[in-house]
Amino acid sequence: MIEKNILTIAILEGIERSDRCPLCYLWIKSEKRLMEYLLKNEVTMSPEFRERVLAARGFCNRHMHLLLKTADGGGTEDGLGYALYIQGVVESIIKALASLNPDNLSALGKSSGGSAIARRRRQRQALVLLSSRLERAIVGEKPCPACESLWSSEKGYLETLVRMLDDKDFREDFKASRGLCLPHFISAIRIASQSKLKSPLDVVYTLMEVEIKHLQLVNNYLSEFIRKHSWDFRNEPPGLEVEANRMALNMLVGVEGLYSRSLKISLPWESEDRRR
Ligand SMILES: [Zn+2]
Ligand SMILES: [Zn+2]
Repeated sequence: MIEKNILTIAILEGIERSDRCPLCYLWIKSEKRLMEYLLKNEVTMSPEFRERVLAARGFCNRHMHLLLKTADGGGTEDGLGYALYIQGVVESIIKALASLNPDNLSALGKSSGGSAIARRRRQRQALVLLSSRLERAIVGEKPCPACESLWSSEKGYLETLVRMLDDKDFREDFKASRGLCLPHFISAIRIASQSKLKSPLDVVYTLMEVEIKHLQLVNNYLSEFIRKHSWDFRNEPPGLEVEANRMALNMLVGVEGLYSRSLKISLPWESEDRRR
């Protein structure tokens, strides 16, 4: 019997309402809600949150763009919150760049002692040093605060789904679902291997069974799509295979903007280097 709480209800909603990976559905939903929240006065005026934005030198590429789209799209205060975030970031970058006094750095490269080869080596060293300091000044020390917040809700959803799969009846229901995209599948397997479950193997086998079934389905649609593009079959009416590319894309990489491929190394919230 699955305990009803805000997380289990969200997972069930994702399975019922979405025509693709339920965790991708929840990711997009959380991201949309988060963008609106980050533009509210109470957040844009919060010194603690502004400090986090500064430490990350703003947001990642995706969230800088999405945040501005959300601000422009109405329904939030207006572009003032965005401007406040960004001005803080621009000012901190100006300050950091100004503090990297090029004269001090180039002194090392310009000093005239030694052979021409030694001078060139010193210049290269000075440039490498300048480049790494510039990067640190611009990239910031912390990950995008919006990504961090999404990873945190994501972790909650994954742990909840895995716990739900520990229930025999839910496993049967899940087998009839559309399955997960590959990034979420790998995450779920990893969370399952780290969690204390009654039947961890059943959980993992169920996830794999559903995944293989859906990969085969996608493959069948792709074959059909490709077949109908051949001259001999060009007059056959289109069927469900017209969605083959979109289905394969969603299955392989998940929804646009998902952390996806970095999972080959580690989950984003566990990563050693959490910068963009
Ligand atoms: Zn997904
Ligand atoms: Zn981000």
